[in-house]
Amino acid sequence: MTIFSNNVKTKKQLSKKGALGALSAPAPVSTHKREPVHVAMFSGGAASAYVAYYIVQKYGKENCILFFTDTLWEDADNYRFMEEVAEYIGLPITYRIDGRTPEEVFFEQKFLGNSRMAKCSEELKVRQTLIFLEELRDDELREPILYFGIGGHEAHRAVNLKNFYEHNPIEPIETRFPMLETFTEDLDAKAIIRDEWRIALPRMYGLGFSHANCSGRCVRGGLGHYALLYKVWPEQYAEQEAMEERFRTKFNDFPKEVSQPQGV
Ligand code: SF4
Repeated sequence: MTIFSNNVKTKKQLSKKGALGALSAPAPVSTHKREPVHVAMFSGGAASAYVAYYIVQKYGKENCILFFTDTLWEDADNYRFMEEVAEYIGLPITYRIDGRTPEEVFFEQKFLGNSRMAKCSEELKVRQTLIFLEELRDDELREPILYFGIGGHEAHRAVNLKNFYEHNPIEPIETRFPMLETFTEDLDAKAIIRDEWRIALPRMYGLGFSHANCSGRCVRGGLGHYALLYKVWPEQYAEQEAMEERFRTKFNDFPKEVSQPQGV
């Protein structure tokens, strides 16, 4: 695993303002012909695992990358699942690690992530991904094509991702969504992985979580998600509660100061 060095150009300025910061310079004109490389955006879940398998079958592992951004909050069983999938499809995982946890991002940004705005994802996942993709272009002269395991129930995310990767890298990056565009709706990736590949799914699925991200602590989860977390992993729920308390304690004075009008 490597922790990146942060000196790569991207269209958006990758400064402390975050991955979605302002443009810093005009986009240079590409002078190289790059060979395509197919990048499976591995989330640690079943659908993205199946998509990774699909592209390796179609393009060969020498033309594919199994890419994962680690937030350091993942459940231990997710790493077990990911490594078993990597071994099954014959492609090692390319990890990118910012080195901060979501909580550390919240404290640095003085903003507690929530279901409407999650700086953790922006900093630890999106920013790392953009840096990695520009490194592929600059250092290896490869042109990435991104594959996501997004299914029909979250098709709106595909639209957002397509739009994002068209406009934020230095040059647009192609995105593909095999679960929407290639496979029929009845493809059951979880059953295939469990019954044909003989790989146990991440334990979080068995506990009822619809996503296996960040050990059930995802700040985007919403009330239903946190109700489930409280029920099945009360210690994880308590961790989140304690984090919020630490945050309130540290930044407690700020709302009082701004809420007192001058001269009152
Ligand atoms: S899964 Fe949730 S908590 Fe984890 S980085 Fe993404 S938005 Fe943040």
